[in-house]
Amino acid sequence: MKYIDPHIHCVSRTTDDYQYMARCGVVAVSEPAFWAGYDRSTASSFADYFRHLLEVEPKRAAKYGIQHYAWLCINAKEAENVSLSREVIKLIPPLLDHPLVLGVGEIGLNKNTRNEITVFEEQVDLAARYDQMILIHTPHLEDKHKGTAIITSILKNDKRIKPERVLIDHCEEHTIRVARDNGFWAGLTIYPVTKVTPQRGADILEQFGPKMICVNSAADWGESGPVNLTDTCLEYRSRGHSEQEATEIFYNNPCRFFGQNAKWKLKASE
Ligand SMILES: [Zn+2]
Repeated sequence: MKYIDPHIHCVSRTTDDYQYMARCGVVAVSEPAFWAGYDRSTASSFADYFRHLLEVEPKRAAKYGIQHYAWLCINAKEAENVSLSREVIKLIPPLLDHPLVLGVGEIGLNKNTRNEITVFEEQVDLAARYDQMILIHTPHLEDKHKGTAIITSILKNDKRIKPERVLIDHCEEHTIRVARDNGFWAGLTIYPVTKVTPQRGADILEQFGPKMICVNSAADWGESGPVNLTDTCLEYRSRGHSEQEATEIFYNNPCRFFGQNAKWKLKASE
């Protein structure tokens, strides 16, 4: 079976993880720009980070037969610094035509602060002006429902934004409807222990149905890993779902969402 990991931070992972993904049949990944585990001090650090995402990581992935795409933005955590954020946002437009850039992301909220909302709105405007798809980070833990509601209302109020071109990630049981009922795609991020585990992910897929859901590992510099994507698929299959049903979720759905951008080459298997 073939997989796509629609949200993974490869810059933080070892080559062992690429080997693991290749063995399991992961053929493509998408990497949103995010926090690096520490706050960067200047916009030039982000310029280098974007170069890493667009030049270094695709070559690294290609060695394992994996296609690597990226999304650009300033993440919600570092968006607390509004003046730095504005300098970073200025770096983005010239890079949007790059053949491996799928859109603006992962933008969103972390602690739902005024500054985060300001920078979020400016990046939604950037995406709208350049007709870009959007990948959304929703806050973890107790701020999640409130943050998801703020994000979706900002997106809904901007008539230039087409909801089906937006993926709202890190959904849980109490937020998945907020995303899908408003016409957005929903992402499920699977973690080994905290947050949504493979078992809980399979529960959500069964409870809510697979339509417009993309499952990902979001593997980053913290406790996480690409194994959480494949473990969720194994858990789902162990409950009696067919390979075709699993392919719908773990391959076809990402192809359908990303395929709205002509740069994405893989096609859903019908
Ligand atoms: Zn992420």
